[in-house]
Amino acid sequence: MDKKKNDFRADFKILDQKVNGEPLVYLDNAATTQKPQAVIESLVDYYEHDNANVHRGVHTLAQRATQAYEATRQKVKELINADSEREVVYTKGTTESLNWIARGYAQKILQPGDEIVLSYAEHHSNIVPWQQVCEKTGAKLVYLDLNTDGQVDLENAKQLINEKTKIVSLAQVSNVLGAVNPIKELAQLAHKNGAIMVVDGAQSVPHMPVDVKELDIDFLAFSGHKILGPTGTGILWGKLELLNQMSPLDFGGEMIDFVELEHSTFKEVPWKFEGGTQNIAGVIALGKAIDYLQAVGLANIAQHETELMEYVLPKLQAIDGFELYGSADPAKHAGIISFNLAGLHPHDTATALDMEGVAIRAGHHCAQPLMKKLQIAASARASFYLYNTKEDADKLVEALIKTREFFR
Ligand code: PMP
Repeated sequence: MDKKKNDFRADFKILDQKVNGEPLVYLDNAATTQKPQAVIESLVDYYEHDNANVHRGVHTLAQRATQAYEATRQKVKELINADSEREVVYTKGTTESLNWIARGYAQKILQPGDEIVLSYAEHHSNIVPWQQVCEKTGAKLVYLDLNTDGQVDLENAKQLINEKTKIVSLAQVSNVLGAVNPIKELAQLAHKNGAIMVVDGAQSVPHMPVDVKELDIDFLAFSGHKILGPTGTGILWGKLELLNQMSPLDFGGEMIDFVELEHSTFKEVPWKFEGGTQNIAGVIALGKAIDYLQAVGLANIAQHETELMEYVLPKLQAIDGFELYGSADPAKHAGIISFNLAGLHPHDTATALDMEGVAIRAGHHCAQPLMKKLQIAASARASFYLYNTKEDADKLVEALIKTREFFR
């Protein structure tokens, strides 16, 4: 990474605090990431200097706001190597993006008997919208199995993706297991059978280079708040021809061309999707978050996280009673480790760690079907990001050993 000794931390003031008398070690990045000062300042700067509604004003402030709001599309385009910034739609987050794909696109094309292929490891946001679409259309859900590394099993996929499949929708990285799925191969399989490939990039876009052309996928959803940006921002990327076929879901101001009493015409893609006043400040600050990520380099972030996994996984596995979910191979964890300490409820583990200043998550991680497959009710999860260090990893290990001893 550029900043050799990981002085990124200086850009994240929130990390410089004590929690329960201990220096904060933030390891809940899969839930949300912290924001660099440039992102926070961008929010303040916008409200202090440029605050105006976009697209409809001729005055200077409105023009400045519009220009900055639209500029983020270009940054997203470059981040994911899209063909055009017109393929970039602003949403509230991954959940909204997936809902829009399901309701605005899939619901229009699906017939009774058609199949939507998901996996057991999907986040609820990539299950529930499809269940709703199945209820409306008579299509049915098919679930892919996982291999021992927690990835979607390609052999199983070859059997279950067939001419009945119309949509394949999978996370590129599991938010529980950290496993990276072979999206390119799965997209090929989908296309060979005439289906479209939707990718939930909530846990991949923050952590590795994601190139929509290289992967040859059709839709990508991700969240701004997991890539150093503000909450309430997200991206829906789709191939232009598919976005053209997709219907908007928010009707009203901003998204129309002409409104007659009985009928209206809509703007072009992407603006036809962005009804009503948008999260203008958030979108502009998301642009700053992308600038920050690009300056560090997504490949460098991926490498940093792999190094942390190589460092911490063996230490964790040496802890008495440490039960790991997913692969034992550090290269197969995109910065996310789910585990339990034998005999301890993960909420107790997380509470004990909080007393040591270590923030991790415990629960079902919005992946109840996966929990059922793993035959557990919940797990603890530590998730790393670019500002985490080996010292953070050591603190996690120490705190877990202390917890283990305390409850013995
Ligand atoms: N998919 C995955 C894989 C996720 O990790 C998350 C966030 N935990 C989501 C979808 C939903 O993202 P959001 O809550 O930002 O809409």
